[in-house]
Amino acid sequence: MSYTKEQVTTRKFDVVIVGAGGSGMRASLQLARAGLNVAVLSKVFPTRSHTVAAQGGVGASLGNMSEDNWHYHFYDTIKGSDWLGDQDAIEFMCREAPKVVYDLEHMGMPFDRNADGTIYQRPFGGHTANYGEKPVQRACAAADRTGHAMLHTLYQQNVQAKTTFFVEWMALDLVRDDQGDVVGVTALEMETGELYVLHAKTVMLATGGAGRIFGASTNAFINTGDGLGMAARSGIPLQDMEFWQFHPTGVAGAGVLLTEGCRGEGAILLNSNGERFMERYAPTLKDLAPRDFVSRSMDQEIKEGRGCGPNKDYILLKLDHLGAETIHKRLPSVYEIGVNFANVDITKEPIPVVPTIHYQMGGIPTNINGQVVMPTEGDYNVPVNGLYAVGECSCVSVHGANRLGTNSLLDLLVFGKAAGNHIIEFTKNTSHKDLPANAADASLERLNRLDNAGGGEYSQTVANDIRSAMQAHAGVFRTQASMDEGVVKIAALRERAKGIGLQDNSKVFNTARIEALEVENLIEVAQATMVSAAARKECRGAHTVLDYEHPADHPTAPLGRDDANWMKHTLWHSADNSLSYKPVRMQPLTVESVPPKVRTF
Ligand SMILES: Cc1cc2nc3c(=O)[nH]c(=O)nc-3n(C[C@H](O)[C@H](O)[C@H](O)COP(=O)(O)OP(=O)(O)OC[C@H]3O[C@@H](n4cnc5c(N)ncnc54)[C@H](O)[C@@H]3O)c2cc1C
Repeated sequence: MSYTKEQVTTRKFDVVIVGAGGSGMRASLQLARAGLNVAVLSKVFPTRSHTVAAQGGVGASLGNMSEDNWHYHFYDTIKGSDWLGDQDAIEFMCREAPKVVYDLEHMGMPFDRNADGTIYQRPFGGHTANYGEKPVQRACAAADRTGHAMLHTLYQQNVQAKTTFFVEWMALDLVRDDQGDVVGVTALEMETGELYVLHAKTVMLATGGAGRIFGASTNAFINTGDGLGMAARSGIPLQDMEFWQFHPTGVAGAGVLLTEGCRGEGAILLNSNGERFMERYAPTLKDLAPRDFVSRSMDQEIKEGRGCGPNKDYILLKLDHLGAETIHKRLPSVYEIGVNFANVDITKEPIPVVPTIHYQMGGIPTNINGQVVMPTEGDYNVPVNGLYAVGECSCVSVHGANRLGTNSLLDLLVFGKAAGNHIIEFTKNTSHKDLPANAADASLERLNRLDNAGGGEYSQTVANDIRSAMQAHAGVFRTQASMDEGVVKIAALRERAKGIGLQDNSKVFNTARIEALEVENLIEVAQATMVSAAARKECRGAHTVLDYEHPADHPTAPLGRDDANWMKHTLWHSADNSLSYKPVRMQPLTVESVPPKVRTF
């Protein structure tokens, strides 16, 4: 055995946060400023977390450039979510939005400015004024590097507040005691390959998205859903995992994202006839309809033979009419991506794009304080003591079945801060609970299984097969037959994942070990997605199943949503690969509920 119990070192903190993206660092800042002893773990240097890649902006109804207020934002988010978002959480987020953006401004975030000194805001998909009447300028932006500016601002503030960072550490498993309370995590230090138990009063998962379960993704390679895997393995269900967002404009063939900010600045999508086809699908918002709408419309054009290029398999994004000056000022990274990944000068010619996996709407269920919640008899939302989740790995749920662009960076800030504040209250009156004697056993078992399976399968072969299966069976358009097939394939891949082995058991910077451990998280997320999707017998938001009909009185609306039977959240349980459901919270905190209606734009 390469790993033994005796070699495991224990360290103690008030709070351990797994993840140094925007959500983890917004929370850690709150905690460190309050004087708590907080450790933040990250697989990569903090400012390399995927938040750094966010381009377009963070949504807040500041009303700097066109009339706006949080009620419009609230309405847009509910309609965008296809009525699967919880209205209390959505109200909380939209009301808090201006405050958290101003917080960032005061920390020194270099937003673009208007002539009067206020923050520059651009239009974004699905964000409207006056309840759907026309696009509104709500996305607060720092050129097309908003996430970069945000993450660096948060990192610098954390350094000042004396947050402890554990860089190139990979958390493996949650430690729960016999009452089910979370009392720490196990983690591998990549440099030495040693295993640690980090003992804490509170653990927070902020591990970001899992876009790497798909073959073509805008996500960073580290986005393997580790927090979701950790939660699932320790008995916590995953919520609404059937809902995955395809971003309309990934560079064809490369997957790299071109921000929706392009269309916010006025870019348009064209088919092979040179037609601005979104005018047909969404007469009011056109190219700025929500992402599920635009992605479906693009795939429809391709399916009907109006795709561009020799194989008619992509759509063109046209920007040259914006003028070189605007492009270089507002979209400098998009210009560079065009040159580097498509050999296209976007100031002169259109760029080939296809819908590409981008964001998971589902995740670890939480309440608006960031506390992870589980169903128990009679109550759907009982907090798990000692465990919080924020950011893309969590599901609060503000995005429901389809997220609006800019609402994720907002979600990180609002719920990162709120969870931080809640933990401060919680830890004030608590001391550390004892670690159970078997704290590291599950992780030791995983590590030794890999080390001992010398002749086992190579992890990346299994990972690639998971990605191909997800790509084939959980795409923009799904069918019941294809999803059912996907469920069988993923179950077989789960068995294969058990047989992964390492050729080289050395400890120092053994990246093969890290990748193999990541595959155990990928498979949890993939199975949650496939099984939840195959069970949902309707279309809603990003979950589009071709077996259903358009609503009789709305032939241009999305295929059939079934509110009577399916306006409910899915919960997937890893232990027995089963599903349960819980109601959507339709009651906002202070205003009236927005009742469901047909979704047209
Ligand atoms: C290309 C791109 C552009 C985007 N643009 C926008 C935009 O303009 N506006 C918007 O609102 N949203 C945007 N999004 C979405 C948004 O950026 C993400 O949802 C958000 O940044 C995720 O933040 P996070 O804090 O949850 O996680 P991340 O920023 O992904 O950070 C995850 C952290 O967890 C760590 N981690 C993961 N697993 C482990 C482990 N096992 N052990 C230790 N550490 C671990 C990682 O090292 C990292 O530090 C974009 C996304 C992409 C991919």
